[in-house]
Amino acid sequence: MKYALLDRGDRLSRELAEQFHTMAKERGLTRDDQAPDIVLSIGGDGTLLQAFHRYRDHVDSLAFVGVHTGHLGFYADWQKDELPELVELMAKMEPTTVSYPLLRVEIITDSGTNVYLALNEFTLKSVEGTLVAQLNINDEPFEMFRGDGIVVSTPTGSTGYNKSVNGSIIHPSLEALQIAEIASINNRVYRTLGSSIILPKHHHCDIVTAPEEPLAIGIDHLVMQFDEVRSIICTVADEKVRFARYRPFPFWNRVREAFIGFDQNDSSASWKRKK
Ligand code: NAP
Ligand code: MN
Repeated sequence: MKYALLDRGDRLSRELAEQFHTMAKERGLTRDDQAPDIVLSIGGDGTLLQAFHRYRDHVDSLAFVGVHTGHLGFYADWQKDELPELVELMAKMEPTTVSYPLLRVEIITDSGTNVYLALNEFTLKSVEGTLVAQLNINDEPFEMFRGDGIVVSTPTGSTGYNKSVNGSIIHPSLEALQIAEIASINNRVYRTLGSSIILPKHHHCDIVTAPEEPLAIGIDHLVMQFDEVRSIICTVADEKVRFARYRPFPFWNRVREAFIGFDQNDSSASWKRKK
């Protein structure tokens, strides 16, 4: 079993990374940054997103594992004091892997086409102010958008930026993408749907902007500026990302732990008992 490791760069994450390497060596695990079977991320979701983008050309042949060091760590299964247990399991068992859908984003500009894979989402904003963009679904005009921006997310990204703009949370067994609005202008003159929409795998969405409008394009944690964009095509990617599960952690438990916490559940249980 070959592994690679990325840490968040803070002191705790760096210390844990060192501890991991030492324990891994004792257990006979091989460190291989070029062709790992498992990529370990020690930090938060930002670290995992970085790890994903570093190894995105090899997503078919490896699986990710996340370790928390504070912060949210929606993608992380392991707490910082559980490293010995994790190393032990990595050395002795073949993990179950779960596969999650990714988003494919094709950006067509006057000077060429760029293709990106996103684990969380693609965001589109104007550098100069209000974004004006036409949205086509399956090559049919759907709406003209005016507002702060558009977020197109994957199911596992649906709990990220998408959630802050009132999108739904989608279970990652559904191969879908979600389009959500950021502060759309809605009045007598301008109209968009207002709710987020979810497209299945065989559909696609084209976003057409004026080529003279400079755009700020976000792919997960990365933001890039693009000029002379003609259109952007979003689809569910053929590739999937795999996560190694050495113990189960169902998606809805993950959502509850990240957003509701345990206390709330306890108090509602006692409220029920009193009734
Ligand atoms: P960040 O500013 O640290 O991220 C913002 C928060 O989103 C952090 O608490 C992060 O967790 C959490 N997060 C990331 N992916 C998530 C997911 N799939 N489900 C639930 N929470 C998630 O920046 P970052 O760490 O580089 O992460 C980039 C991501 O932040 C973007 O992909 C986007 O989803 C999200 N974001 C959200 C907003 C917003 O809600 N208004 C704005 C910009 C970006 P950690 O603390 O563990 O990193
Ligand atoms: Mn972060």
